[in-house]
Amino acid sequence: MDYPRPERFEASAAAFKSACEVIPSGVNSTARSVSAGWEPYPLFVAEGRGAHLTDIDGNTYIDYLLGLGPMLFGHRPAAITKAVVDYIEQRGTMFALPTLEEISLAQRIVDAVPSVEQVHLTNTGTEGVLYALRLARAFTGRSLIVRFEGMYHGFSDGIYWSKHPPLDLAGPDLYPLPVAQGPGLPPGVDAGLLILPWNDQAALESAFTRHGDEIAAVITEPIMCNTGCIIPEPGYLEVMRRLSAEAGSLLIFDEVITGFRVALGGAQSLYDVRPDLSVFAKGLGGGFPVAAVGGRRDVLQLVDDGVVSMAGTYSGNGIAVAAASKAIELLANEAAFGELRALSDRLRTGLQLRFDAAGMASQVVGVGPLFQVWFTTTPIRSYRDAIRHADQETFRIWWEEMLVRGVLFHPGALENVFLSFAHQEEDVERTLQAAEGAIVAMRARR
Ligand code: PMP
Repeated sequence: MDYPRPERFEASAAAFKSACEVIPSGVNSTARSVSAGWEPYPLFVAEGRGAHLTDIDGNTYIDYLLGLGPMLFGHRPAAITKAVVDYIEQRGTMFALPTLEEISLAQRIVDAVPSVEQVHLTNTGTEGVLYALRLARAFTGRSLIVRFEGMYHGFSDGIYWSKHPPLDLAGPDLYPLPVAQGPGLPPGVDAGLLILPWNDQAALESAFTRHGDEIAAVITEPIMCNTGCIIPEPGYLEVMRRLSAEAGSLLIFDEVITGFRVALGGAQSLYDVRPDLSVFAKGLGGGFPVAAVGGRRDVLQLVDDGVVSMAGTYSGNGIAVAAASKAIELLANEAAFGELRALSDRLRTGLQLRFDAAGMASQVVGVGPLFQVWFTTTPIRSYRDAIRHADQETFRIWWEEMLVRGVLFHPGALENVFLSFAHQEEDVERTLQAAEGAIVAMRARR
């Protein structure tokens, strides 16, 4: 596979060759790798500004990749950059002692998310999830974790299973087997995991009937964002909430993608379901690395008592705290969220109209500034639906044709399209025009 018009990407192709000499796979995250869809090489970035990005060949794009979510204010948001630079210049970066700003940031998060009574900062979503799971095991005295096929909760050994397993290894639809993300995960960890299909109330009920008193926690994204974008069936999260509470298990919402993005209070505020613990990351930091695990005071009390250690040299560092504080201050402006939702809806419905007019089997599915296109009309409720029904080859052609028209998002059909507060109506208009051209080109190529 190559890019259409590869002469436009020669500098990236050459950079990738050099990168592969000194960086394994040429990139510093699997999500940027050839295997993740950046085939035959990822684009190398020169700079980002607002909703736009320029690669090292000088191509410019309207950016819907947005760093895979964190750039909720676009690139180089002036207010957040200033808050960070001021903090570094006037205060420092890290002290291995607490600062007053950590208190006010924690208070902002507690105020923003009703289920969060206390909150502990981490650096990445992976760490936040790891701590949430450890807390759940410590609190319940149980070890079994329920997770759903097709979700991603970071790359720690205990949970990096069954993200996108090959179906021939993954067992029956109703009783999926844990499938390691790859070699190197410690043997035996899978015994502590119960893998379920998402959006399947009966499967959840059966799991609680069989194992209710062993389940420490159910962990889920409230909107499934690591298999494209899949919306919870009405009532599903509520059932999850009820069953976990009845069994004395904790419900953990992994809001690393949805948190501070679909609403100030995250997806849990949209669906009005209160988890026991939540993990936040991308939307929280305005493009700086910061994450958080928060929730019930009686669970986090275990940290207070010194029972569960939550360590981290960089956790709560000045850069992260300055960035997140400013980001939440900006996000507290509800009117801005309304505008972002309206603009995102225009793009989503505009795309669907154009696909429909061209007679292309498709669904544009999402919530506010977070969506994906499925090339099928079969409803997608779970990972296996996506693998069986969504046409990933058509998605690749869609991606290529949008890329050469100056619109950037991830080439993987199981990733997301993100919008930011920096996107303007004009960007959406240009994107819809690009889509019209892309659709014509796609029909010619099929
Ligand atoms: N949980 C979810 C839902 C995610 O999407 C991700 C990252 N894409 C993570 C956890 C891990 O976060 P990080 O990359 O910050 O470790």
